[in-house]
Amino acid sequence: MTATLPGPGMSPGMAPGMSRRLALAALAGSAADLAGVALIASAAWLITRAAEQPPLAALSVAIVAVRAFATTRGIFRYGERLAGHDVALRAQAGTRERLYQALIPTGPLSHRGADLLSRMVDDTDAVQDLLVRCVLPAVAALLTGIAAVVVAAFLLPAAALVLAAGLLVAGVLLPAGTAAAARRWSARIAPARAELAAKVADLVHGAADLAAYGARGHALAAGMDADARLAKLERGQARINAAGLGLGVLAQGLTVVTVVLTAQAAHLGTVATAVLALTALVSFEPVLPLAAAGERFAGVLAALRRLREIRATPPAVAEPESPAPPPEPPLTVEVENLVVRHGDRQPALDGVSLTLTPGKRVAIVGPSGAGKSTLLSALMRTVDIESGNIRINEVDVREYASDDVRARMTGLTQDPYVFQATVRDNLRLAGPDASDGDLARAVRQARLDTWAERTGWDTTLGEDGRTVSGGQLQRLALARALLFDPSVLLLDEPAEALDEETAGLLMADLLDATRGRTTLLVTHRLRGLEQVDEIVVLENGRVAQRGTHAELLAVPGYYRDLWASEAMTGGHA
Ligand code: ADP
Repeated sequence: MTATLPGPGMSPGMAPGMSRRLALAALAGSAADLAGVALIASAAWLITRAAEQPPLAALSVAIVAVRAFATTRGIFRYGERLAGHDVALRAQAGTRERLYQALIPTGPLSHRGADLLSRMVDDTDAVQDLLVRCVLPAVAALLTGIAAVVVAAFLLPAAALVLAAGLLVAGVLLPAGTAAAARRWSARIAPARAELAAKVADLVHGAADLAAYGARGHALAAGMDADARLAKLERGQARINAAGLGLGVLAQGLTVVTVVLTAQAAHLGTVATAVLALTALVSFEPVLPLAAAGERFAGVLAALRRLREIRATPPAVAEPESPAPPPEPPLTVEVENLVVRHGDRQPALDGVSLTLTPGKRVAIVGPSGAGKSTLLSALMRTVDIESGNIRINEVDVREYASDDVRARMTGLTQDPYVFQATVRDNLRLAGPDASDGDLARAVRQARLDTWAERTGWDTTLGEDGRTVSGGQLQRLALARALLFDPSVLLLDEPAEALDEETAGLLMADLLDATRGRTTLLVTHRLRGLEQVDEIVVLENGRVAQRGTHAELLAVPGYYRDLWASEAMTGGHA
């Protein structure tokens, strides 16, 4: 994760091959523009000289030149498009990959999903634009401009000065102006676009809640407002583009007229004047789009800044320089005096110790905010350790690559996801090579077999398919976890948000299915915990109580109180 994102004005962390391709594209683009100028200059010479009716032999070189320039211009343009897009798409792919790496594992991110998505798509496109729409045209315009001024200088130095001045106005002043104006606009447009994306995401994902509370009209109106604000800003931005292009054409016209007047004042011959005028006219062709490029450049700079911001989000955990070989199962996990802190708040875990030997099942209970999820995050290496230690098979967890740790200690996340795919594929996600037998066994252990048979293994689930109830979703996630078969199974509040009866059945089945597996179960339901080997009660990040179900019931404290209140609400029935 040491690669850097492209910064303004530099090639995006390119390999040597990429720089060669970029140079090739710039060369081909410039050659195409130069051929264009040469074509017009030689054609102008040919037509005006032909009007003087010289012997045909005097024109033959110009005839060949016109043909040659016309053909090569097309060939060079094709080469430029090919090489330019190739290099831009490669750079874009590289940027996207580095961005994914910066986001995984996701630490606490301050960006909302929709905003992040729009950044991913729009801002990585900006990298392509930087090369194709800004850098390559600027190089081609510069070379063509210089060539046209040199040709003009041979014919009439004064006219060359006029042309150079006109080209500078159209190629430097105007783009700088549009870039400055666009920077002001894009500073307003980017948040407006992010706001619209977030509003639309709220409308889509929160549709059910909005309908339930009759708030759809209000939310829709807010979305429409955001849309109107964005549209207004974008119209303003489009006006900059139009003004830039218009002023460029004006500069072109004035320059050509002034060049012709200068030539007449210097009593230049007809042929030379025609060549001069047309060369001046056509030399603006690659320069005019620079006003739009300037406008785009401002947007690209802002996009690159936003991408760097995401990249600058420090990784959730530091990776070792040379990781230890992955731990071999069976795993023994020792947590010793673990202290974990989110930001500069109170430690979320403050001196927690526990040991998971192969086959041992430990339950973590405690009030909300006690640090239960933080403990799972520390084990899965999505938050870093402040002090204390986690050792896997006697090696400090920080010496392993975090991916190796996550591949062996994982399980049920708090918010499992159903993909828009068949029942079979939703399960196979966790075991692409699993046989039908493995699949059937996992589904049976998660007590999902009846449901799977009734629904059909090839029925599509998810957003556009069949929806899945909360209990089935947890069982699907459990079957997935069993199929993945991690060395240490982590289960985060599997019965959260389920009704009492469903939760009770799920917990009973889950405790059955995990028998003999090394398991860490975070739960707020105590029923069935007599089956686990150890129960650790966390309060305020510290271990308040620990022991077996029977031992904890024998002493006053959080566990006995919670057991009593569960009994009163019929939770043990
Ligand atoms: P539990 O799972 O027991 O409810 P958590 O581990 O989620 O507890 O939280 C423990 C403490 O850490 C709480 O005070 C919580 O507010 C804080 N916390 C958890 N996650 C984050 C985070 N990503 N950023 C900041 N604080 C966090």
